[in-house]
Amino acid sequence: MSENIIDSKAMFKIGYGLYVLTTREDLKDNGCIINTAIQLTSNPLRVAVTVNKQNYSHWVLMRTGKCNVNCLTEATPFSEFTRFGFASGSDTNKFPQGVPMRSANGIAVLPQYSNAFFSLAVEQYIDLDSHGMFICTVTEAKVLSGEETMTYSYYHKNVKPKPEKKADTPKGYVCKICGYVYEGETLPEDFVCPLCKHGASDFEPLS
Ligand code: FE
Repeated sequence: MSENIIDSKAMFKIGYGLYVLTTREDLKDNGCIINTAIQLTSNPLRVAVTVNKQNYSHWVLMRTGKCNVNCLTEATPFSEFTRFGFASGSDTNKFPQGVPMRSANGIAVLPQYSNAFFSLAVEQYIDLDSHGMFICTVTEAKVLSGEETMTYSYYHKNVKPKPEKKADTPKGYVCKICGYVYEGETLPEDFVCPLCKHGASDFEPLS
């Protein structure tokens, strides 16, 4: 399909929420940020989560077949996104302070910044090249608070740090995902954001 009839920005008009997907394997607790949790059916209750294969959690979920989805609220600070989204559970402990709460399946629940959680058991896996889609049945679900759910657009408007404008920085590029600023005339094509590990295509020129 022609490049000029696909405006990738149109995808941002789909409304998304933001969630911490928690998993547990061999006594190790893990969590990553996803924006792709969706209810599929109500009887039986099914939810799908799609996880990037570059996330350690994708493989943990594939092996264990169990996870929790924690629905983040608007009160969630950027530090939680840094903690769960910009580091890998393969070499980082996402729970240095311990796990605040567990659901019946033994997996971590994050009551501080979540308004609900649900526990999922994987029923089907669909390989989507870069990502894997897990179609799951719901084994437990609880509302934790009446706070508003964090949407992706709320995150972009209110949570992600704004790039600082410096008079002596004539040219630069900002990461649309985490706000990291690359200073320089041109952004290398193979550049990878040091903070969130997204590629050059997720950068835009500083305006
Ligand atoms: Fe980034």
